[in-house]
Amino acid sequence: MIHEHAAPPSPHHRARTQPITAIVIHDTASHTAASALSWFANPASQVSAHVVIDRDGAIYRVVPDDRVAWHAGKSTLHAQPNVNGFSLGVELVDADDGVNDPYPEAQLNAAAEWCGIACARYRIPLNRIVGHRDIAPGRKVDPGSDFAWSDFLLRVAWHQLG
Ligand SMILES: [Zn+2]
Repeated sequence: MIHEHAAPPSPHHRARTQPITAIVIHDTASHTAASALSWFANPASQVSAHVVIDRDGAIYRVVPDDRVAWHAGKSTLHAQPNVNGFSLGVELVDADDGVNDPYPEAQLNAAAEWCGIACARYRIPLNRIVGHRDIAPGRKVDPGSDFAWSDFLLRVAWHQLG
């Protein structure tokens, strides 16, 4: 079983009324997990996610799966609006600042393993692991164009076989 570190609680979540049928991948647009976690814990931020995955592969749990986290905003997936209500939000620590900072192997593998477990648990098909940019086009650009989707989904599949 994958290890999740405790994180400062976020006040930004609500009860789930729909089944979990998708996973949304984000960049934190920060250099450290600590800054993302403190922003999600800040009552003023109005944002959160289920987990934050650091560049060393450490996974921080912010909101339990059975609560809706506030990560997607105005969004649509396959004509279904308000993606927060039926998804899990995964934040990858990535500055997304134009500097060449590829996602480290440890981070990609931890994210893929976490997603593989969630896909098995909630019966989420791989084509419903999507980027924030895919569900809010024109408004969001994360994860960046340096996020290799086919490589990532193969890693998820590999972990599911494991
Ligand atoms: Zn995002």
